[in-house]
Amino acid sequence: MPIEEWDHLQARSPLCNGCQKLFADKEDYHTALSLTPEGYRRRDLCQTCWSATERANAVSYWQGTFQVPPPPKPEALKKEDAESLLRKFIDSKDPGHANARYILAIMLERKRTLRHRDTTEQDGQKVLIYEHARTGETFLVPDPRLRLDQLEAVQTEVSALLAPPPPLTPVEQALASAEKETNAAADSAPVAEENPPPSDAEPPASQP
Ligand SMILES: [Zn+2]
Repeated sequence: MPIEEWDHLQARSPLCNGCQKLFADKEDYHTALSLTPEGYRRRDLCQTCWSATERANAVSYWQGTFQVPPPPKPEALKKEDAESLLRKFIDSKDPGHANARYILAIMLERKRTLRHRDTTEQDGQKVLIYEHARTGETFLVPDPRLRLDQLEAVQTEVSALLAPPPPLTPVEQALASAEKETNAAADSAPVAEENPPPSDAEPPASQP
């Protein structure tokens, strides 16, 4: 199976894939990933449905605590730049994004947006398995085995992508052009000084 076809996202199920009961807030769950001809298959199970057989059949598994997702906060949008970029790169399936995906996943792990759940191996390549702390989605990120000297270049590349200049609003555009005009006026001031006014135009010295 080509790598581009299985590094997709799979959301955590809101209910147990065994007994179909909705997970309660703070309930412990078990997640098992198994490899099927169609790709990775994810099963989320409650404590009761989890069994040694499920575990034995899994290529990877982890435990978590279910959290009822909080309503999104408006300010959360700004923080999701690295996350939305990672989602974009995973969706794009472009192998050229492998390095950036890896760096973004590590960044998001440091920010505790993603939790590293396991590391598995596929066709001799290490694959990091992450779970989104808030939504419970699975992110499969192949480890591109970057050398130290490559790491810095990729980090620079990713930082450049993360801080794009926001497009100017019409008001900002107006302010920017007004500022330009002010600067232009200021620039012309030194030119005027090259032709000093006659000395009699100078203010009279104050008398004691
Ligand atoms: Zn169950």
